[in-house]
Amino acid sequence: MKIWLDGKLVDESEAKVSVFDHGLLYGDGVFEGIRIYNGRVFRLEEHIKRLFDSAKAIILNLPWTQEEVVRYTVDTVAANGLKDGYIRLVITRGAGELGLNPYLCPKPSMFIIASTIKLYPDETYKNGLAIITCATRRPAPAALMPQVKSLNYLNNIMAKVEAIQANALEAVMLNEQGYVAECTGDNLFLIKDGKLLTPLICDGALDGITRAVIIELAEKLGVPFKECSLTRYDIFTADECFLTGTAAEVIPVVALDRRVIGTGKPGPFTARFLEAFHELATSTGTPVA
Ligand code: PMP
Repeated sequence: MKIWLDGKLVDESEAKVSVFDHGLLYGDGVFEGIRIYNGRVFRLEEHIKRLFDSAKAIILNLPWTQEEVVRYTVDTVAANGLKDGYIRLVITRGAGELGLNPYLCPKPSMFIIASTIKLYPDETYKNGLAIITCATRRPAPAALMPQVKSLNYLNNIMAKVEAIQANALEAVMLNEQGYVAECTGDNLFLIKDGKLLTPLICDGALDGITRAVIIELAEKLGVPFKECSLTRYDIFTADECFLTGTAAEVIPVVALDRRVIGTGKPGPFTARFLEAFHELATSTGTPVA
């Protein structure tokens, strides 16, 4: 496998970062996960825009333009001959001193991995996930801006550990006020009385690219949509529930905390969104060749 690392495509055995890199020492950096379908990179410009916005929000000055990063990403996919897969693009603060001070890290480091990913087993896309609510809360937006896709994922990892320990594949994370924020790596949607609902970003959700696609599709499919604060009650009493994310794609949820949602089977709205998403994802995007 060829990895793009600081301007060069190198063999994976050569792709190494410093132990003084603040991405490693402190989670100081930003990243993106991007999918490739049928030889095209899905929503590439949007991902790179979010990456640059995340970097800007943490005062990480980048020596590359968005157009250059788009090109490096496509080059990495091409170098690995991938037609379908998953790209991990990481920018770290770079190597510096052992203290926190990011101004003592002179140069950010960027690497791009073009590989594959599978979050949930195939049958869960057909039968739906049974998920739990975890005790680990999302940090307040004033503590860690939810829009910033930073390398600081310990909060999400602790939530994932709770899910695994409860024999579930995913966990709903609430914010400090008890409102639903998102899952450990996915945004959450509900269908209630024919309406599509999703938590507000300010309730602690990442401004997901797949989330934006679903909102776009809702308009196309004529499904009324609202972003609002949601509680566990709203999930328990919803007709349908599904999660979205680049790695997860669109996946139905049929139970929360052992309580059945709707009929306990993936519903018709979820099926329509799932189909429309795959149709769009496999027919649009930035060509690799
Ligand atoms: N929430 C979190 C915490 C995530 O890490 C992700 C992406 N993996 C998402 C939501 C979904 O975002 P996207 O659709 O942009 O992949």
